[in-house]
Amino acid sequence: MENAIRVRPARSSEVATLAKLVKSRLPDMMSHVRRTDSVETHLAELVPDQALLVATHGSRLAGLGALDLDHRRILACYLDPEVASPDTPRRLFESLERHALRFGIRRLNGVARKRVAGFMRSLGYECRPDPDDENNILIVRDLLELADDKTREIFRLCDELGVPEDYGVAHRMPLVTEAEGMTSAGRDIFEREQRLIPDAADAFKRMREAALTSNIEIRLVSGFRAIAYQANLFSRKLDQGHSMKEILEVSAPPGYSEHHSGRAIDVTTRGVKPLEEDFARTDAYQWLLGNARIFGFRESYPRHNRHRISWEPWHWYFKR
Ligand SMILES: [Zn+2]
Repeated sequence: MENAIRVRPARSSEVATLAKLVKSRLPDMMSHVRRTDSVETHLAELVPDQALLVATHGSRLAGLGALDLDHRRILACYLDPEVASPDTPRRLFESLERHALRFGIRRLNGVARKRVAGFMRSLGYECRPDPDDENNILIVRDLLELADDKTREIFRLCDELGVPEDYGVAHRMPLVTEAEGMTSAGRDIFEREQRLIPDAADAFKRMREAALTSNIEIRLVSGFRAIAYQANLFSRKLDQGHSMKEILEVSAPPGYSEHHSGRAIDVTTRGVKPLEEDFARTDAYQWLLGNARIFGFRESYPRHNRHRISWEPWHWYFKR
C-alpha cells in the first residue's frame, strides 16, 4: 500500500478537478491570493514551476500540496483519509521542501491547524501561536538541514559573491545539477573544444549538419560550464567594477545556469556579434525556430519570457 502512493507534480489537465477540491475542502488556501483571480487560474500558475504536487493512488487523489514560492510558504496540504497512506503527509511535505530548496529557499513558512502541532514538530518544524487565529499555529522549517553538500556549496558561493538570496524565486530558475560524463560537441568560434552530455552533443552535431544542407551555418559559442567556472566569471566581473545588478542582467549566478547541465548551447552564425540580440535577425535563428525542436532543442529565454530574463535568441536547451 505504501509504495502504491505516488507523489508528483500536478498536470495542467488536472487543474479543474483540483480547483473544485480546493474550493470545497481548502477554503483558506487562496485567502491571500489576488481576489480577482479564480482558483483555477491560481492553481494553473503553480503548474509550470511544479509548485503544485499531488499524491495519487492509481487514478485516485490521495492528497495535494502547494507552495507559494514568492512568500516561501506552504500554501496548503490536503489529504483524503480514505486514500492516503499513513506516510503520505510526510512524503508530501518532504517533496514540497525539496522543491522549495531547488529554488534556493532556505526557510519555509506556513500556517497549520493547532491540532497538528505534534506532527509538524516531528517533521522538523518550529511551531508558535498564530497571533491572528487561536486555532492556528505558524510553522517554520530550516531547509538547509536537508541540503546536500553541492547545494550548500552553491549557497556559499552565491552568498560570498553577494547574489540576492531570492534570485531563484524571483526568476523562477531552479538550481541546476552539474553534469558529469560529457563528450565533445565540437569546437567553438574561438577554436576551444566545447562539451555536452552525449545525447545533447550528438543532437547538436546532427542539427548543425542538417542546417548546413540549407546553407545555414550554426556556430557554437558555449556549451557546458562548471559551477566553479561561473563563480569565477562573476568574481572577475565584480573585480572589473560591474555591479551585481549589471552582471545578473547577462549571466545566471553559479548554480542556476542551464549551462551546468551540459544540455545548453549558445550559438551564433557569421556576420553577427555573438551573444547579442542581432542574432534574432539572422537566417540561422529563423532556421532554428523552425527546426531545432526536431533535434530536441528549445529556446529557453524567448522575448518576454516568464523568467524575466532578457531575450537570448542564441541560447538553446536540449530537452529529451
Ligand atoms: Zn547561454
